[in-house]
Amino acid sequence: MKKITVVGAGNVGTTTAQLIAERGLADVVLIDVLEGTPQGKALDIFEACPLWHSNSHVTGTNDYADTAGSDIAVITAGLARKPGMSRDDLLHANAKIIKAVARNIAGVSPDCIIIVVTNPMDAMAQVAREVTGFPHSRVIGMGGVLDTARMRSFISLRTGAHPKDIHAMVLGGHGDLMVPMTSLTTVRGKNISEIITESEMEQIIERTKNGGAEIVGLLKSGSAYYAPAASTVEMIERIFGTKTGTLPCSVYLNGQYGIDGVYTGVPVTLGPEGLKEIIEMDLTDDELMALRTSADAVRDLIKKLNV
Ligand code: NAD
Repeated sequence: MKKITVVGAGNVGTTTAQLIAERGLADVVLIDVLEGTPQGKALDIFEACPLWHSNSHVTGTNDYADTAGSDIAVITAGLARKPGMSRDDLLHANAKIIKAVARNIAGVSPDCIIIVVTNPMDAMAQVAREVTGFPHSRVIGMGGVLDTARMRSFISLRTGAHPKDIHAMVLGGHGDLMVPMTSLTTVRGKNISEIITESEMEQIIERTKNGGAEIVGLLKSGSAYYAPAASTVEMIERIFGTKTGTLPCSVYLNGQYGIDGVYTGVPVTLGPEGLKEIIEMDLTDDELMALRTSADAVRDLIKKLNV
């Protein structure tokens, strides 16, 4: 059995642990600074495993020694947005948490792949990479999978098409400047521009960009976690090879798309080594410019952190 550590036993972390256990993908160690919370939630999930016909062992802890030898570490520790906050407002508080968490993880699981979920995610992925010194291929951020799932769900709502027949890709940083790629969006093989009007597409793009804020506004306390956890597990399944195909993930770019030295969301393939390949797709000039602007916004955050 593989071993996955989930750091942060809050909404996203616990739901991620639940999905991993429900699918029997790995043993799970849930870790948090709160005493009793990871232990209690892990035990509750573990007790559901017989009902899911799952053999996963799920434990909770406050001690990184128990996470040693993990194949994957998912970092969800940190503050979540409150109504009116942007993801970037979490920058300094969460950077401090990510630095400590990433160092602890690297100390006991030096060969693991880190998936960063904590916001502002692209900047936090870069921080985790810097403090661990891991190869860039082993620190990957989750954001584009979620943004793309949101966009596909809204297109499904508008067109009535089954989400599996809808292909879309949201690239760029996981923030206000994310870039939904209209030219790559198809429904049953036809470009979206042949199916809905430009103004309908604009509405879908706006709702996608505000997808996180829409849920924060409705919940009033806390942010989204079901779709974020499912998106994280989608990446885990690509790493383990139980699913295949390209996903938009935040990775370190080294000249691809004309972007250098910063984490941002692009189409990639994943495997046991983490990042396998960055796929360079044909984008329109406008899309390429938007992608670069989005990457610049991540670069600005990194500058504020001096990492
Ligand atoms: P939450 O408040 O429910 O849980 C966060 C947990 O982190 C808490 O249990 C807290 O005790 C724990 N924590 C804080 N400091 C810690 C530390 N040093 N070590 C270990 N645990 C620590 O929040 P949530 O809804 O689960 O969201 C978690 C993070 O994920 C937030 O930053 C949120 O913005 C982000 N998020 C990102 C995406 C994405 O697409 N990348 C989607 C949703 C949420």
